[in-house]
Amino acid sequence: MAVLDIRVLGDPILRERTEALRAVTDEVRALVADMFETMRAAEGIGLAAPQVGRKERVFVMEVDDDPMAMVNPEIIEREGSERAEEGCLSIPEIFGDVDRATRIVVRALDAEGNPFEVELTDLAARCVQHELDHLDGKLFIDYMSLIKRKFTARKWEKEAVNYPGFIRKLEPGKAHSRKSRSRSKSADPAAPPFEPEL
Ligand SMILES: [Zn+2]
Repeated sequence: MAVLDIRVLGDPILRERTEALRAVTDEVRALVADMFETMRAAEGIGLAAPQVGRKERVFVMEVDDDPMAMVNPEIIEREGSERAEEGCLSIPEIFGDVDRATRIVVRALDAEGNPFEVELTDLAARCVQHELDHLDGKLFIDYMSLIKRKFTARKWEKEAVNYPGFIRKLEPGKAHSRKSRSRSKSADPAAPPFEPEL
């Protein structure tokens, strides 16, 4: 397994649509394993293939200690709506409110290639919707108002200098909490909920 570089805002791959996989091969399983390791190293709760420079229609997530890999996912039911703040491992230090369905049913293949359906609510449902957007070249900042987007673009201009070539390098075993709001999940379970980075 390996920790992969994360592509950040500005890398064109984040704006490309992924391609559905015909089969879950050993290569896909290796990608999934690397994506789990990368997501954990970055202390995120979700990670989609384009974020590590890949075009497979795959994402991984881990909400409430429940790791899930989804290949060729589609949402087949959705209901409710809730506005809450999100972040993204590919847009560090930027946060914004997004409306998402509060309950969804997803159909996908798991890392073994077996089809499954799962009903998810709240943060897990939000995570799937955020990752599915990644697979279609869409980012959470696209939901912002024009004014907020302009403000965000200015803030990102300053932040992006930390990521030459639009690459965010992670080192295995090192904490990568964000600068301004770092909080450890394990060290302080009583910490208030924080904006998920997905
Ligand atoms: Zn994201």
